[in-house]
Amino acid sequence: MINFQYSRANNIADAVRQIAADPKARFIAGGTNLIDLMKEEVERPSRLIDITHLPLKAVEETAEGGLRIGALVPNSDLAYHPLVAQRYPMLASAILAGASAQLRNMASTGGNLLQRTRCHYFYDTATPCNKRTPGSGCSALNGINRMHAILGTSDACIATHPSDMCVAVAALAATVHVTGPKGERTIAFADFHRLPGSTPERDTNLGTDEIITTIELPGKGFAKNHTYLKIRDRLSYAFALVSVAAALELDGDTIKEARLALGGVAHKPWRDLGVEASLRGQTAKREAFMHAADALLGGAKGHAHNAFKIDLARRAIVRALTQAARGTPQSQSSKKVL
Ligand SMILES: Cc1cc2nc3c(=O)[nH]c(=O)nc-3n(C[C@H](O)[C@H](O)[C@H](O)COP(=O)(O)OP(=O)(O)OC[C@H]3O[C@@H](n4cnc5c(N)ncnc54)[C@H](O)[C@@H]3O)c2cc1C
Ligand code: SF4
Repeated sequence: MINFQYSRANNIADAVRQIAADPKARFIAGGTNLIDLMKEEVERPSRLIDITHLPLKAVEETAEGGLRIGALVPNSDLAYHPLVAQRYPMLASAILAGASAQLRNMASTGGNLLQRTRCHYFYDTATPCNKRTPGSGCSALNGINRMHAILGTSDACIATHPSDMCVAVAALAATVHVTGPKGERTIAFADFHRLPGSTPERDTNLGTDEIITTIELPGKGFAKNHTYLKIRDRLSYAFALVSVAAALELDGDTIKEARLALGGVAHKPWRDLGVEASLRGQTAKREAFMHAADALLGGAKGHAHNAFKIDLARRAIVRALTQAARGTPQSQSSKKVL
Protein backbone atom coordinates (compact mmCIF):
# COMPACT_ATOMS: atom_id res chain seq x y z
CA MET A 1 0.00 0.00 0.00
CA ILE A 2 1.33 3.42 -0.89
CA ASN A 3 1.50 6.08 1.81
CA PHE A 4 -0.81 9.07 1.54
CA GLN A 5 -2.02 11.94 3.70
CA TYR A 6 -5.66 12.44 4.63
CA SER A 7 -7.38 15.73 5.30
CA ARG A 8 -10.92 16.99 5.44
CA ALA A 9 -12.20 20.05 3.56
CA ASN A 10 -14.17 22.41 5.81
CA ASN A 11 -15.81 24.38 3.02
CA ILE A 12 -15.59 24.76 -0.76
CA ALA A 13 -12.90 27.46 -0.58
CA ASP A 14 -10.84 25.21 1.70
CA ALA A 15 -11.28 22.26 -0.72
CA VAL A 16 -10.03 24.40 -3.64
CA ARG A 17 -7.14 25.77 -1.58
CA GLN A 18 -6.04 22.25 -0.60
CA ILE A 19 -6.24 20.77 -4.11
CA ALA A 20 -4.51 23.79 -5.70
CA ALA A 21 -1.65 23.46 -3.18
CA ASP A 22 -0.90 19.83 -4.14
CA PRO A 23 -1.29 18.72 -7.78
CA LYS A 24 -0.95 15.06 -6.71
CA ALA A 25 -3.84 15.25 -4.23
CA ARG A 26 -7.30 13.87 -5.06
CA PHE A 27 -10.75 14.61 -3.69
CA ILE A 28 -12.55 11.63 -2.26
CA ALA A 29 -16.36 11.45 -2.24
CA GLY A 30 -17.96 7.95 -2.17
CA GLY A 31 -14.57 6.38 -2.93
CA THR A 32 -16.15 3.59 -5.02
CA ASN A 33 -13.85 4.22 -7.98
CA LEU A 34 -10.88 6.04 -6.47
CA ILE A 35 -10.15 3.42 -3.79
CA ASP A 36 -10.25 0.61 -6.37
CA LEU A 37 -7.79 2.55 -8.54
CA MET A 38 -5.53 3.09 -5.53
CA LYS A 39 -5.60 -0.61 -4.66
CA GLU A 40 -4.39 -1.39 -8.20
CA GLU A 41 -1.81 1.44 -7.95
CA VAL A 42 -3.29 3.10 -11.03
CA GLU A 43 -3.89 6.18 -8.87
CA ARG A 44 -1.16 7.09 -6.37
CA PRO A 45 -2.38 10.29 -4.72
CA SER A 46 -0.15 12.05 -2.20
CA ARG A 47 -3.24 13.16 -0.25
CA LEU A 48 -6.93 12.37 -0.09
CA ILE A 49 -9.05 15.45 0.53
CA ASP A 50 -12.32 14.26 2.03
CA ILE A 51 -15.12 16.42 0.65
CA THR A 52 -18.01 14.42 2.10
CA HIS A 53 -18.79 17.08 4.75
CA LEU A 54 -19.28 19.90 2.24
CA PRO A 55 -22.80 21.32 1.90
CA LEU A 56 -23.39 19.86 -1.59
CA LYS A 57 -26.14 17.35 -0.81
CA ALA A 58 -29.27 19.27 -1.85
CA VAL A 59 -31.63 18.74 -4.79
CA GLU A 60 -33.36 22.09 -5.41
CA GLU A 61 -35.66 23.59 -8.02
CA THR A 62 -34.13 26.47 -9.97
CA ALA A 63 -35.88 29.76 -10.77
CA GLU A 64 -35.89 28.65 -14.45
CA GLY A 65 -37.94 25.52 -13.66
CA GLY A 66 -35.02 23.11 -13.70
CA LEU A 67 -33.19 21.20 -10.98
CA ARG A 68 -29.90 21.90 -9.21
CA ILE A 69 -28.23 18.73 -7.92
CA GLY A 70 -25.42 18.93 -5.37
CA ALA A 71 -22.24 17.05 -6.32
CA LEU A 72 -22.45 14.96 -3.13
CA VAL A 73 -26.02 13.75 -3.58
CA PRO A 74 -25.73 9.94 -3.47
CA ASN A 75 -26.83 8.17 -6.67
CA SER A 76 -29.62 6.32 -4.78
CA ASP A 77 -31.02 9.50 -3.22
CA LEU A 78 -31.04 11.17 -6.62
CA ALA A 79 -32.82 8.30 -8.39
CA TYR A 80 -35.49 8.11 -5.67
CA HIS A 81 -35.91 11.88 -5.20
CA PRO A 82 -39.59 12.68 -5.93
CA LEU A 83 -38.72 15.54 -8.31
CA VAL A 84 -36.38 13.30 -10.30
CA ALA A 85 -38.72 10.30 -10.29
CA GLN A 86 -41.65 12.45 -11.49
CA ARG A 87 -40.01 14.99 -13.80
CA TYR A 88 -36.80 13.27 -14.95
CA PRO A 89 -37.64 9.52 -14.92
CA MET A 90 -35.11 8.84 -17.69
CA LEU A 91 -32.37 10.00 -15.30
CA ALA A 92 -33.79 7.89 -12.46
CA SER A 93 -33.84 4.75 -14.59
CA ALA A 94 -30.32 5.38 -15.95
CA ILE A 95 -28.96 5.66 -12.41
CA LEU A 96 -30.81 2.52 -11.30
CA ALA A 97 -29.39 0.60 -14.28
CA GLY A 98 -25.88 1.14 -12.89
CA ALA A 99 -23.79 -0.79 -10.37
CA SER A 100 -25.58 -2.27 -7.33
CA ALA A 101 -27.80 -0.85 -4.59
CA GLN A 102 -24.86 -0.77 -2.15
CA LEU A 103 -22.60 1.05 -4.63
CA ARG A 104 -25.33 3.54 -5.54
CA ASN A 105 -25.75 4.35 -1.85
CA MET A 106 -22.07 5.34 -1.66
CA ALA A 107 -21.51 6.82 -5.15
CA SER A 108 -21.88 10.59 -5.50
CA THR A 109 -23.22 12.60 -8.43
CA GLY A 110 -19.88 14.40 -8.95
CA GLY A 111 -17.87 11.19 -8.63
CA ASN A 112 -20.10 9.48 -11.20
CA LEU A 113 -19.08 12.09 -13.80
CA LEU A 114 -15.41 11.51 -13.01
CA GLN A 115 -15.37 7.71 -12.79
CA ARG A 116 -12.64 6.34 -15.05
CA THR A 117 -12.85 3.88 -17.90
CA ARG A 118 -13.31 0.17 -17.23
CA CYS A 119 -10.77 -0.82 -19.91
CA HIS A 120 -9.08 -3.78 -18.20
CA TYR A 121 -5.65 -2.78 -19.53
CA PHE A 122 -6.02 0.58 -17.78
CA TYR A 123 -6.36 -1.31 -14.48
CA ASP A 124 -3.50 -3.72 -15.24
CA THR A 125 -0.24 -1.90 -14.54
CA ALA A 126 1.75 -4.71 -16.21
CA THR A 127 0.41 -3.67 -19.64
CA PRO A 128 1.01 -0.55 -21.78
CA CYS A 129 -1.80 2.02 -21.61
CA ASN A 130 -1.63 5.59 -22.93
CA LYS A 131 -4.33 6.73 -20.53
CA ARG A 132 -2.40 5.49 -17.47
CA THR A 133 1.12 6.12 -18.78
CA PRO A 134 1.09 8.59 -21.70
CA GLY A 135 3.22 7.44 -24.63
CA SER A 136 3.40 3.78 -23.53
CA GLY A 137 0.97 2.49 -26.18
CA CYS A 138 -2.56 1.10 -26.23
CA SER A 139 -2.90 -2.60 -25.41
CA ALA A 140 -6.56 -2.67 -26.43
CA LEU A 141 -5.99 -1.68 -30.07
CA ASN A 142 -4.72 -5.16 -30.92
CA GLY A 143 -5.86 -6.87 -27.74
CA ILE A 144 -9.19 -7.89 -26.26
CA ASN A 145 -11.41 -4.95 -27.19
CA ARG A 146 -14.94 -6.32 -26.91
CA MET A 147 -16.09 -3.59 -24.48
CA HIS A 148 -14.37 -0.77 -26.33
CA ALA A 149 -15.47 2.24 -28.36
CA ILE A 150 -16.79 2.40 -31.90
CA LEU A 151 -17.19 6.18 -32.18
CA GLY A 152 -14.75 9.07 -31.66
CA THR A 153 -11.73 6.80 -31.09
CA SER A 154 -8.10 7.67 -31.82
CA ASP A 155 -4.92 5.68 -32.47
CA ALA A 156 -3.97 6.45 -28.88
CA CYS A 157 -7.07 5.11 -27.07
CA ILE A 158 -10.35 3.30 -27.76
CA ALA A 159 -11.72 3.31 -24.20
CA THR A 160 -15.34 4.05 -23.31
CA HIS A 161 -16.82 6.17 -20.54
CA PRO A 162 -18.63 3.68 -18.31
CA SER A 163 -21.34 5.82 -16.69
CA ASP A 164 -25.05 5.20 -17.12
CA MET A 165 -26.14 8.33 -15.28
CA CYS A 166 -24.07 10.54 -17.59
CA VAL A 167 -25.87 9.23 -20.70
CA ALA A 168 -29.20 10.52 -19.41
CA VAL A 169 -27.59 13.73 -18.12
CA ALA A 170 -26.16 14.29 -21.63
CA ALA A 171 -29.56 13.78 -23.25
CA LEU A 172 -31.07 16.26 -20.79
CA ALA A 173 -28.43 18.87 -21.80
CA ALA A 174 -27.27 19.63 -18.26
CA THR A 175 -24.67 22.16 -17.12
CA VAL A 176 -21.84 21.40 -14.70
CA HIS A 177 -20.98 24.09 -12.12
CA VAL A 178 -17.40 24.08 -10.87
CA THR A 179 -15.25 26.20 -8.56
CA GLY A 180 -11.49 26.72 -8.77
CA PRO A 181 -8.84 29.21 -7.66
CA LYS A 182 -10.13 31.73 -10.23
CA GLY A 183 -13.72 31.44 -9.02
CA GLU A 184 -16.82 29.72 -10.37
CA ARG A 185 -17.55 28.69 -13.96
CA THR A 186 -20.02 26.51 -15.83
CA ILE A 187 -19.30 23.80 -18.40
CA ALA A 188 -21.97 22.57 -20.82
CA PHE A 189 -22.31 18.83 -20.27
CA ALA A 190 -21.49 18.16 -23.94
CA ASP A 191 -18.09 19.83 -23.34
CA PHE A 192 -17.37 18.23 -19.98
CA HIS A 193 -15.99 14.88 -21.15
CA ARG A 194 -13.34 14.76 -23.89
CA LEU A 195 -12.57 12.47 -26.80
CA PRO A 196 -9.22 10.71 -26.44
CA GLY A 197 -7.36 12.31 -29.37
CA SER A 198 -3.64 12.39 -28.58
CA THR A 199 -4.23 13.09 -24.86
CA PRO A 200 -6.28 10.14 -23.57
CA GLU A 201 -4.89 10.72 -20.07
CA ARG A 202 -7.34 13.65 -19.82
CA ASP A 203 -10.91 12.41 -19.46
CA THR A 204 -12.58 15.78 -18.90
CA ASN A 205 -12.16 19.54 -19.22
CA LEU A 206 -12.32 19.99 -15.44
CA GLY A 207 -9.16 21.68 -14.16
CA THR A 208 -7.01 19.63 -11.78
CA ASP A 209 -7.54 22.40 -9.18
CA GLU A 210 -11.34 22.60 -9.61
CA ILE A 211 -14.21 20.98 -7.71
CA ILE A 212 -17.63 20.09 -9.13
CA THR A 213 -20.24 21.78 -6.96
CA THR A 214 -23.57 21.20 -8.72
CA ILE A 215 -25.17 19.83 -11.89
CA GLU A 216 -28.06 21.81 -13.30
CA LEU A 217 -30.83 20.23 -15.35
CA PRO A 218 -32.98 22.42 -17.62
CA GLY A 219 -36.77 22.33 -17.10
CA LYS A 220 -37.52 19.83 -19.89
CA GLY A 221 -37.47 16.34 -18.40
CA PHE A 222 -39.31 14.44 -21.20
CA ALA A 223 -41.25 12.54 -18.52
CA LYS A 224 -43.98 11.41 -20.94
CA ASN A 225 -41.90 9.97 -23.78
CA HIS A 226 -38.52 8.61 -22.78
CA THR A 227 -36.55 5.45 -22.24
CA TYR A 228 -33.15 4.37 -20.94
CA LEU A 229 -32.20 1.10 -22.56
CA LYS A 230 -29.07 -0.67 -21.34
CA ILE A 231 -27.73 -3.74 -23.14
CA ARG A 232 -25.17 -5.70 -21.10
CA ASP A 233 -23.82 -9.20 -20.63
CA ARG A 234 -26.03 -9.96 -17.62
CA LEU A 235 -29.12 -8.30 -16.26
CA SER A 236 -27.52 -6.46 -13.35
CA TYR A 237 -24.15 -5.41 -12.00
CA ALA A 238 -22.54 -5.12 -15.44
CA PHE A 239 -21.35 -2.15 -17.47
CA ALA A 240 -23.15 -1.31 -20.72
CA LEU A 241 -22.13 -2.82 -24.03
CA VAL A 242 -24.44 -0.22 -25.52
CA SER A 243 -26.95 2.02 -23.81
CA VAL A 244 -29.39 4.57 -25.20
CA ALA A 245 -31.15 7.50 -23.55
CA ALA A 246 -33.99 8.49 -25.87
CA ALA A 247 -36.45 11.31 -25.24
CA LEU A 248 -39.15 12.76 -27.46
CA GLU A 249 -41.56 15.67 -27.33
CA LEU A 250 -44.52 14.78 -29.53
CA ASP A 251 -47.40 16.66 -31.06
CA GLY A 252 -49.70 13.80 -31.93
CA ASP A 253 -47.45 11.54 -34.01
CA THR A 254 -45.10 14.35 -35.02
CA ILE A 255 -41.74 14.79 -33.32
CA LYS A 256 -41.35 18.33 -31.96
CA GLU A 257 -38.05 17.61 -30.26
CA ALA A 258 -35.78 14.57 -29.99
CA ARG A 259 -32.88 13.78 -27.71
CA LEU A 260 -30.61 10.79 -28.17
CA ALA A 261 -27.47 9.90 -26.24
CA LEU A 262 -25.45 6.68 -26.34
CA GLY A 263 -23.33 5.03 -23.67
CA GLY A 264 -20.76 2.24 -23.99
CA VAL A 265 -19.73 3.35 -27.47
CA ALA A 266 -17.31 6.27 -26.97
CA HIS A 267 -14.93 8.05 -24.60
CA LYS A 268 -17.86 10.30 -23.64
CA PRO A 269 -21.66 10.03 -23.72
CA TRP A 270 -22.31 10.31 -27.48
CA ARG A 271 -24.79 12.87 -28.76
CA ASP A 272 -25.26 14.00 -32.35
CA LEU A 273 -27.18 17.28 -32.58
CA GLY A 274 -27.54 16.92 -36.37
CA VAL A 275 -29.32 13.59 -35.98
CA GLU A 276 -31.59 15.01 -33.27
CA ALA A 277 -32.43 17.97 -35.55
CA SER A 278 -33.19 15.63 -38.46
CA LEU A 279 -35.88 13.89 -36.39
CA ARG A 280 -37.74 17.15 -35.81
CA GLY A 281 -40.97 17.34 -37.85
CA GLN A 282 -40.89 13.64 -38.73
CA THR A 283 -43.58 11.10 -37.91
CA ALA A 284 -42.53 9.08 -34.87
CA LYS A 285 -42.22 5.79 -36.74
CA ARG A 286 -39.71 3.00 -37.19
CA GLU A 287 -38.58 4.34 -40.59
CA ALA A 288 -37.50 7.69 -39.15
CA PHE A 289 -35.81 5.96 -36.22
CA MET A 290 -33.86 3.67 -38.56
CA HIS A 291 -32.65 6.65 -40.60
CA ALA A 292 -31.56 8.37 -37.38
CA ALA A 293 -29.68 5.27 -36.22
CA ASP A 294 -27.91 4.88 -39.59
CA ALA A 295 -26.91 8.56 -39.60
CA LEU A 296 -25.65 8.45 -36.02
CA LEU A 297 -23.57 5.36 -36.64
CA GLY A 298 -22.31 6.40 -40.09
CA GLY A 299 -18.81 7.06 -38.74
CA ALA A 300 -18.69 4.05 -36.41
CA LYS A 301 -15.64 1.82 -36.65
CA GLY A 302 -15.29 -1.60 -35.05
CA HIS A 303 -12.17 -3.42 -33.91
CA ALA A 304 -11.40 -7.16 -33.81
CA HIS A 305 -13.89 -8.02 -31.04
CA ASN A 306 -16.39 -5.19 -30.89
CA ALA A 307 -17.71 -4.70 -34.45
CA PHE A 308 -20.95 -6.35 -33.23
CA LYS A 309 -21.61 -3.16 -31.27
CA ILE A 310 -22.42 -1.23 -34.45
CA ASP A 311 -25.46 -3.35 -35.28
CA LEU A 312 -26.33 -3.69 -31.61
CA ALA A 313 -26.33 0.10 -31.25
CA ARG A 314 -28.46 0.49 -34.39
CA ARG A 315 -31.10 -1.90 -33.04
CA ALA A 316 -30.94 -0.38 -29.55
CA ILE A 317 -31.53 3.13 -30.91
CA VAL A 318 -34.59 2.02 -32.90
CA ARG A 319 -35.98 0.10 -29.92
CA ALA A 320 -35.36 2.93 -27.46
CA LEU A 321 -36.97 5.56 -29.73
CA THR A 322 -39.93 3.24 -30.38
CA GLN A 323 -40.47 2.72 -26.66
CA ALA A 324 -40.13 6.44 -26.02
CA ALA A 325 -42.68 7.23 -28.73
CA ARG A 326 -45.15 4.71 -27.29
CA GLY A 327 -44.67 6.07 -23.79
CA THR A 328 -43.67 2.59 -22.61
CA PRO A 329 -40.19 3.13 -21.22
CA GLN A 330 -37.94 0.16 -20.61
CA SER A 331 -36.89 1.39 -17.23
CA GLN A 332 -35.72 0.32 -13.87
CA SER A 333 -38.49 1.46 -11.56
CA SER A 334 -37.65 4.43 -9.37
CA LYS A 335 -40.36 3.36 -6.92
CA LYS A 336 -38.70 1.93 -3.84
CA VAL A 337 -39.26 -1.78 -3.34
CA LEU A 338 -39.70 -2.29 0.37
C1 LIG B 1 -18.26 -3.05 -9.13
C2 LIG B 1 -18.72 -1.73 -9.68
C3 LIG B 1 -19.73 -1.71 -10.66
C4 LIG B 1 -20.16 -0.49 -11.19
N1 LIG B 1 -21.14 -0.48 -12.15
C5 LIG B 1 -21.54 0.70 -12.70
C6 LIG B 1 -22.49 0.75 -13.75
O1 LIG B 1 -23.01 -0.29 -14.19
N2 LIG B 1 -22.84 1.96 -14.24
C7 LIG B 1 -22.31 3.12 -13.76
O2 LIG B 1 -22.66 4.20 -14.23
N3 LIG B 1 -21.37 3.10 -12.80
C8 LIG B 1 -20.98 1.93 -12.26
N4 LIG B 1 -20.02 1.92 -11.28
C9 LIG B 1 -19.29 3.15 -10.99
C10 LIG B 1 -19.85 3.99 -9.88
O3 LIG B 1 -21.06 4.56 -10.33
C11 LIG B 1 -18.79 5.07 -9.64
O4 LIG B 1 -17.69 4.43 -9.04
C12 LIG B 1 -19.31 6.17 -8.74
O5 LIG B 1 -20.35 6.88 -9.37
C13 LIG B 1 -18.18 7.15 -8.40
O6 LIG B 1 -18.65 8.04 -7.41
P1 LIG B 1 -17.85 8.21 -6.04
O7 LIG B 1 -18.52 9.28 -5.27
O8 LIG B 1 -17.70 6.91 -5.33
O9 LIG B 1 -16.46 8.71 -6.61
P2 LIG B 1 -14.99 8.60 -5.97
O10 LIG B 1 -14.46 7.24 -6.16
O11 LIG B 1 -14.98 9.18 -4.60
O12 LIG B 1 -14.24 9.62 -6.93
C14 LIG B 1 -14.09 9.37 -8.30
C15 LIG B 1 -13.25 10.51 -8.89
O13 LIG B 1 -13.97 11.73 -8.85
C16 LIG B 1 -13.25 12.73 -8.13
N5 LIG B 1 -14.30 13.53 -7.46
C17 LIG B 1 -15.33 13.03 -6.72
N6 LIG B 1 -16.17 14.03 -6.41
C18 LIG B 1 -15.66 15.16 -6.97
C19 LIG B 1 -16.09 16.53 -7.01
N7 LIG B 1 -17.22 16.93 -6.43
N8 LIG B 1 -15.31 17.42 -7.67
C20 LIG B 1 -14.17 17.03 -8.27
N9 LIG B 1 -13.70 15.77 -8.26
C21 LIG B 1 -14.45 14.84 -7.61
C22 LIG B 1 -12.29 11.98 -7.24
O14 LIG B 1 -11.13 12.74 -6.95
C23 LIG B 1 -11.96 10.77 -8.11
O15 LIG B 1 -10.95 11.11 -9.02
C24 LIG B 1 -19.59 0.72 -10.71
C25 LIG B 1 -18.60 0.70 -9.73
C26 LIG B 1 -18.16 -0.51 -9.22
C27 LIG B 1 -17.08 -0.50 -8.16
S1 SF4 C 1 -8.08 1.79 -24.75
FE1 SF4 C 1 -7.28 3.57 -23.62
S2 SF4 C 1 -7.45 2.92 -21.51
FE2 SF4 C 1 -7.50 1.04 -22.73
S3 SF4 C 1 -5.35 0.36 -23.00
FE3 SF4 C 1 -5.81 1.68 -24.70
S4 SF4 C 1 -5.08 3.68 -23.97
FE4 SF4 C 1 -5.38 2.43 -22.16
